[in-house]
Amino acid sequence: MSVPNYAVIEIDATKCTTPFDCKKCLAGCPQSVFAVAAMKVEKGRETNPKDPGVYTLYAPHRDKCTGCDICIEVCPVDALTITFPAQAAA
Ligand code: SF4
Ligand code: SF4
Repeated sequence: MSVPNYAVIEIDATKCTTPFDCKKCLAGCPQSVFAVAAMKVEKGRETNPKDPGVYTLYAPHRDKCTGCDICIEVCPVDALTITFPAQAAA
């Protein structure tokens, strides 16, 4: 079985609690790997992006990650871990 040749991006949601408000990794990533999605939608009520847990960060384009580590450097709470299993296995 071959090891996938793309990045495994772990996002610690206990550290990255307000990604919509932060967005430092989204802004810094040259490959546009990250996106944010709303977790809580309350009908008739504006959600506050500064409230923890309202939004979540995910990595829909992790296959484009080059491992430049910019996102890790700009993250203020050390929430990101990126590994390349295929390179580690080589
Ligand atoms: S390591 Fe670089 S390319 Fe990969 S997600 Fe982070 S900023 Fe984007
Ligand atoms: S830079 Fe860090 S805290 Fe900010 S959105 Fe990205 S992972 Fe979350």
